[in-house]
Amino acid sequence: MVQIVFLGTAGGRFATFLQTRRTGGILVKGDVQMHIDPGPGALRAAWHFGEDPTNTRVIFVSHSHTEHYSDAEVMIEAMTDGGWNPRGTLLAARSVIEGIDGMGPSISRYHRGMVDSESVVEPGLTYQVDGMEMVATPTDHTDPSGVGLKLRTDSGVISFVSDTALSEEVINAHSEARLLILNVTIVKDIGAAKHLTPENAAEFISAIKPELAVITHMGKHIIQDGPDELAKMLASRTGVPVVAADDGMDLEFDDAIVVTR
Ligand SMILES: [Zn+2]
Repeated sequence: MVQIVFLGTAGGRFATFLQTRRTGGILVKGDVQMHIDPGPGALRAAWHFGEDPTNTRVIFVSHSHTEHYSDAEVMIEAMTDGGWNPRGTLLAARSVIEGIDGMGPSISRYHRGMVDSESVVEPGLTYQVDGMEMVATPTDHTDPSGVGLKLRTDSGVISFVSDTALSEEVINAHSEARLLILNVTIVKDIGAAKHLTPENAAEFISAIKPELAVITHMGKHIIQDGPDELAKMLASRTGVPVVAADDGMDLEFDDAIVVTR
C-alpha cells in the first residue's frame, strides 16, 4: 500500500505568496517516505498534519520554481539529523542541482553534501531507491529541465505530472496511470505560463482514463472559482472520478484507491 498526503494544494506565484492554501508539496509513504516538491511552508505543513519529516529518505524536486523547491534545504536537514547523519537521496531537475538558463541552482552545495546520493533527473530514465521504482517524465514548462514522475507500485502506476502545458508527449508518458495527479494552475491559457487549465485537464484525463484523477497545485483563480465544482465538471465531461485535493488530504493506493478528506 502507498499512502499519499497532500501537504499543500496551492500553486502558481500568487496563491503561493498569498498562501491562499498551503504549498508543502506531496508526501508519498511507500517502501520509503518520499517528499515531492517541498515548497514554502512544507516543514510546518508536515508537522501540522502529523507527518514526521525526519522519516523522509527521498526528496524529489521537479523544477526550479519557488513553490517546488524552497523548503528542500530544510527538509534535507530534517532527513539527515541536521547534516550529522548523511543519508537519503536527492532526485531533482538539472536546474535545481546544476542551474540552467539563469535558473538555479536552487539547493546549495552545502546541503547537497548532506545526502547519501543525488541524481539529476532526466525524462525517460528509471530510478530505483530502496525498493521504489520511479520513471521520470517530460514536461513542457518555463523551466526547460522540469520533470514529472511515475511511481511503479505492486498495485499499478501513480503519475505526478508536475507543472506543464498540454502536449502529446506529456500525455503519452503517463498512459499507464491508474492514479493521475494533475497540477491545474491557471483558468485560461495565455500562452506564456505553460500550466494546465481546466480545459487541458479534461483532455488529459479523457486521453488517459485513469481509475481516479486528482487535481492539485491550484492557482488563485482556480481556488476562488471552487475546486470541488471544477472536479465535478471534469468528472462529468470525462466519465472518470475526479477529486480536488485539499490541504491535508490523505489517499491510500492499493487494490482500491481510498480518499480521506
Ligand atoms: Zn512551475
